[in-house]
Amino acid sequence: MRFRSFSFLIGLSFLVLTACSFRNIHSTEAPGKEPTNIILFIGDGMGIAHINAAMTISSTPLALEKFPFSGFSKTFSYDNYVTDSGAGGTAIASGVKTNNGMIGMGPDSVAVESIMDLAHRKGLATGLVSTSSLTHATPASFVAHNIDRSNYEEIAKDFLKGTIDVFIGGGEDQFRNRNDSVDLTVKLTKQGYDVVYTIDALMKSTNNKLAGLLAKDHMEQELTGRRGMLELMTSKAIETLSRNEKGFVLMVEGSQIDWGGHASDIRYVASEMLDFDRAVGVAKKFAESNGETLIVVTADHETGGLTLTEGSEEQHWVSVIFSTTDHTGVMVPVFSYGPGAERFSGIHDNTFYFPEFLDLLGIRKK
Ligand code: MG
Ligand code: ZN
Repeated sequence: MRFRSFSFLIGLSFLVLTACSFRNIHSTEAPGKEPTNIILFIGDGMGIAHINAAMTISSTPLALEKFPFSGFSKTFSYDNYVTDSGAGGTAIASGVKTNNGMIGMGPDSVAVESIMDLAHRKGLATGLVSTSSLTHATPASFVAHNIDRSNYEEIAKDFLKGTIDVFIGGGEDQFRNRNDSVDLTVKLTKQGYDVVYTIDALMKSTNNKLAGLLAKDHMEQELTGRRGMLELMTSKAIETLSRNEKGFVLMVEGSQIDWGGHASDIRYVASEMLDFDRAVGVAKKFAESNGETLIVVTADHETGGLTLTEGSEEQHWVSVIFSTTDHTGVMVPVFSYGPGAERFSGIHDNTFYFPEFLDLLGIRKK
């Protein structure tokens, strides 16, 4: 278990050398069938064209291109062929189709347990990383239970349950500038969390329970100020969670791929997509050296009805058409790497991840 303390802040040459030596050590061992850790990446609104555009624009291959297994996920919700991120996130987190706009509960308004609830109960470390506010639909689906995704301040309160050890994203205002004047960060501190507000303070923290509230509401766009932070947030979450010998479950969201799609803005889409892929690369490096980590990368839905109409692989450009400013019902891609990865190839429903994750982690639902 010596690799669990693997640091991401070491020089590239050392990283390459150690990666090679890890591989040599592991080459004599049979590959494990079941993962100790699961890292789930959700590219909000990330369809195939979004990935394809990023692949064309990038002068180097994406981390996603090196994943050995791929498949597709159907995304429809309980009450709509086209899902929102609340129902989409709930299906992925808890294996239950619900109505659009709902968080962590079935269409009958009865709360359902998420993979994080169950992993936490089994003693695994849990984490959420997001470039939106942490109370926004996607991360909220893994921690909260609410009939309406826009009840942000109620959703923030659900972080006090302690089911998430490390959460890093935006949303400071929903935690300590609230209509009820309650400062949730005081309670979090009492519960043993190190609550930090800057990326520097986050990277310096050595606490096992970590709340990184890095923006008042949503974090900035990659292009206009967030630059490179998602990689650091992801590496810090992995470094912290991997101290737990029993393993961990981490969800990392590229929240703003969706917002680029809503804005019909390919520069926004592509920059968020490339940033998301770099975070995937950070996790992949960890998983390669660790050998016990499953990575699954998928989306909750496609946004924008994006089509690539022209482009150049040599000159790295694309021309695009967005057919809508909303979400679409088209299937989204799934990429997987590590122990159990083969289970995620083929076409599955978005309720498929939850039972597979439980099975792979040896968790029984009560
Ligand atoms: Mg989202
Ligand atoms: Zn959206």
